[in-house]
Parts: sequence; structure tokens; C-alpha cells
Amino acid sequence: MNKWIEKIPFKKIVIFYIILVILVGIILMVWIGRKFQSKINFVYDYHTIQENSYNWEEIKDNLQAMSDKSEDVVDILVLDNENKITYTSKKSEFADQEKFSLTKAENMPNGYFTSSTNDNIIFRLTSDKELMITTVLSNFDTEIQKESEDEVFYQENYQEKKIFLLSYLGNKNTGEKIYFITEMHQIPNGRTYIKYTLAIIMFLFMIYWVLLALYIYQNALKSKLNPYLWGGITLITNIAGVVIYLIYKQNQKTCFQCGALQSKNHIYCVHCGTKLNETCNQCGSVINEQDHYCARCGKKQR
Ligand SMILES: [Zn+2]
Ligand SMILES: [Zn+2]
Repeated sequence: MNKWIEKIPFKKIVIFYIILVILVGIILMVWIGRKFQSKINFVYDYHTIQENSYNWEEIKDNLQAMSDKSEDVVDILVLDNENKITYTSKKSEFADQEKFSLTKAENMPNGYFTSSTNDNIIFRLTSDKELMITTVLSNFDTEIQKESEDEVFYQENYQEKKIFLLSYLGNKNTGEKIYFITEMHQIPNGRTYIKYTLAIIMFLFMIYWVLLALYIYQNALKSKLNPYLWGGITLITNIAGVVIYLIYKQNQKTCFQCGALQSKNHIYCVHCGTKLNETCNQCGSVINEQDHYCARCGKKQR
């Protein structure tokens, strides 16, 4: 096993691996991006509108564009301080009335409302962040069933009803409100795409993890250290193992002839016998090249 590990050209592999990761990353981003484009656009547009909510006039310009682009938007309504509809982006059934008001849904948890004109419609109040997550993952039906207070009651009375998500922005100065009424359409096989993406990312990460352990194994082998120990430590602790390994190497001396790692005080390499250190011409102890006097006996060296 040691023979072939010694021959692994890690520099080339690392360069190849980085190129591979960048390529796969780009392909995944394009793949997922195209598949989820309408959802990503929705999140982006919603965020833009929210960011500009201090500039009410500017928001109104963006609402129509956002509504036109997204198939999930059922309607965007702007209401004045008396709940009168002053703007509708899709002229849906909700905009037929002059006013848009909500009443709390019976036997449902907080945050569920019914339309005052059609009680077969339920609105689930959704925070902005939740809306963005739901938009991408869009599988909230089972979640709603789970959180309704009485599941049997829900099955009997609400199963047939239409549920929409509702989120809103308010303008404190004018009392105006924007209601975003949305209905999330699942992307066909969207979850499978996400699963595959995560699997590919995991696989690339595993390759990196094993490569690093193999590299340390090879390096330890060259330094005549125990490759199983250091490779094993790196396989378990990854980067932490590498740091410990490098610190350990720092405090040792590498033989320039055979690469064996050993104590800094060795005069000769314990592996190949090459002279590693200068010695005092009187007492024979190890001295550094730049020392003028021996640290042990005080003899002048040059
Ligand atoms: Zn040596
Ligand atoms: Zn000496």
C-alpha cells in the first residue's frame, strides 16, 4: 500500500480537484438556478420591495412587475387606512370587493383568517422570511394540517377549502398596507434536485477529506514517521490533525538527505547517517552555525 501512496502526485490532484469543484459548482448553480428561476425571482423581487418600503411610491412601480413574473402570486392588493382596495395587480376575485377584510378562522391557530365574503377561503399569515423559505421549498400543506389545533376538525371542515399564503407590508405614515396573496406551486421534482445537489456537495467534500488524510499519510511516510498514526489522526480530525502535524514537524529536524524527521539535537541522521549539525571542536556538542562560542563548554568556534 505504501508504494502507491508514495507515488500519488498531490500537487496535480489538488489543482485538478479545485478545477473540478469550480466546474461542478458552476454547473450546479446554473442547473438549480434555471430550475428554480421563477422562485428565485420572486424572493429577489419581494426582498427589493421590502427594502424600499420607506419609499412607498417606488414600491408601487415594482409590484406589477413582480406580480406579472410570478405564477405564485394570486394578487397583490394595496389598501388604504380603511382597508379600501386602491390597487390590485391581477384583478383577482379578492379585488372584486371594495374593501378587503379578514376575520380569524374558527378552530384554527393564530394566524389563520377567512375572507369576510367567502368563508371557503383561508389565509395563512406568513412572515416574510417564512414566505421566502416556503417559496423555494413549497411544501406547506402537511405543515398546515399538523399545526391546526384539531386535526379531525381540520380534515372535516377545512380539507375542501382553499388555502392561500398572506404576507403584508405596512406604511406607518399613511396607514396603507400591501397584501401579498400567494399560492405556492411546487417545482416538479424540485426536492429531488435539491437532494441530488446536496449529495454531490457531500461527495466532493468526502473526496477532499480523504485526499487530505492521504496527503498527510504520504508526508509522514517520507519523514519516516508513523503514517498510520498521522493519516489516521487527519482522517478523524481533518484540519485539526494537519495543524498538530505541522506544529510537530516545526519542532523537529528533517534530514536533507533521506527526509527522516528527528530530534533537533541529533548530530547524525538516525536513518542514513548523514551529518545534520555542526559540533563544538572541543566538547563535541551540537552548535548552531551562527554561534561564536559553544553553549556547553564556552570554547571559541571561529
Ligand atoms: Zn537521513
Ligand atoms: Zn563545546
